[in-house]
Amino acid sequence: MALIVQKYGGTSVGSVERIRGVADRIVRYREAGHQVCVVSSAMSGETNRLDALGKEMVARPLAREMDVLLSSGEQVAIALLAIALTARGVPAQSFLGFQIAIRTDDAHSRARIESIDTEKLQSVIDQGIVPVIAGFQGIDDHGAITTLGRGGSDTTAVAVAAALGADECEICTDVDGVYTADPRVEPRARRLGTVTFEEMLELASLGSKVLHPRSVEFAGKYQVPLRVLSTFEEGQGTLITMEQDNMEQP
Ligand code: ADP
Ligand code: ASP
Ligand code: MG
Repeated sequence: MALIVQKYGGTSVGSVERIRGVADRIVRYREAGHQVCVVSSAMSGETNRLDALGKEMVARPLAREMDVLLSSGEQVAIALLAIALTARGVPAQSFLGFQIAIRTDDAHSRARIESIDTEKLQSVIDQGIVPVIAGFQGIDDHGAITTLGRGGSDTTAVAVAAALGADECEICTDVDGVYTADPRVEPRARRLGTVTFEEMLELASLGSKVLHPRSVEFAGKYQVPLRVLSTFEEGQGTLITMEQDNMEQP
């Protein structure tokens, strides 16, 4: 039995039908005997819609309130997913960032995670309940909601996996792994079976949005086994490895 943290991106939870598909996927992992802890993004397009609403209100909205606004998309997704799981006979509970004390600094819109209360999460997991955690958000020392930067749910997932000492963190997305270039732009791009943290960090910081750069940093620092794979198709995806594991290195 392994403890797996699974993060589902916006496309993966983009409709009621897709959320049902994600719930079925989680059921399959449970049936294979694994413990699953879930992190979800907002439904696709939702964070952009909320961002536009705030900017329609005033040209330069307050950073504190924009974080309250933008973080609300994840709240909808985690509730829907927990409802879908429970309907399949899998006990599940949704958690906003503050409910499991995802503490961050106070840099609104680009906050860094400082700590997570694993006692609460672990006890939920030990009871056989699937936690469904809102990605992308945390709480600062003043009790204000913060967000981690666009694409930040990846970082929530890796931080949760590191804090729990999970066996693997799966980034479940709309591509079947990491490619040499964005496969939607470059049709000749090849999928990589493995990629080192260093290479992945380079790809991420050059703007390949398949992984949030800070999630790669975190995984390297805390040695979290990290995998990028498709929500929709079976497959091994791409494993992000330590440099020394990569036999292709000269
Ligand atoms: P999610 O909503 O699941 O977080 P993202 O849209 O943030 O998904 O990231 C997945 C997308 O990243 C893919 O659809 C793909 O177009 C893009 N992408 C950019 N560079 C790469 C790459 N090197 N390998 C794979 N996907 C990439
Ligand atoms: N929902 C947020 C965004 O669209 C966070 C994420 O998806 O990772 O940027
Ligand atoms: Mg993303």
